[in-house]
Amino acid sequence: MVVEPAREEGKADPLAGVPLSRRLLLLPHCLRLAEGCPGKMTPSGLDCSGCEHSECKIHAILRAAIEAGYENICVAPGGRLAVKRVAQTRPAAIVAVACDKELREGVAAVEALDWDGDGPPIIVQIPLLRDGCVNTDVDMAQVKAALGGPGSPGG
Ligand code: SF4
Repeated sequence: MVVEPAREEGKADPLAGVPLSRRLLLLPHCLRLAEGCPGKMTPSGLDCSGCEHSECKIHAILRAAIEAGYENICVAPGGRLAVKRVAQTRPAAIVAVACDKELREGVAAVEALDWDGDGPPIIVQIPLLRDGCVNTDVDMAQVKAALGGPGSPGG
């Protein structure tokens, strides 16, 4: 099921009731700083360990997500790795940031996985404000609202 993030104070959080341990946050690596990013690409996605580039949107989102209690986070170089993480960890809900094309293809791929009796996860989609594969942008307020937790519209 694809849902919109809660955008306004007082609106219901679509992920309320989904434990943080059952959520997956997917971010596109194109949000990284095009210059000076020390991240290392690994088989499980971009490793940002130890990076303190506060002007990087990925840094800000990782910080907010970890503070909110997210444990399953993947900064993916593409849809294939993102879907692989979904298949491996079988979340109950996904917060996915990506361009329109990756979101469309990703949702179709996730829904096509074998979910047994559980049914596919709730997917909160956050389209990029600016795509183009390098130095992309996203609405940080929308991301924080989607993550839930204290201070978010639904939190
Ligand atoms: S936080 Fe941003 S700048 Fe730092 S390693 Fe990750 S993507 Fe690169």
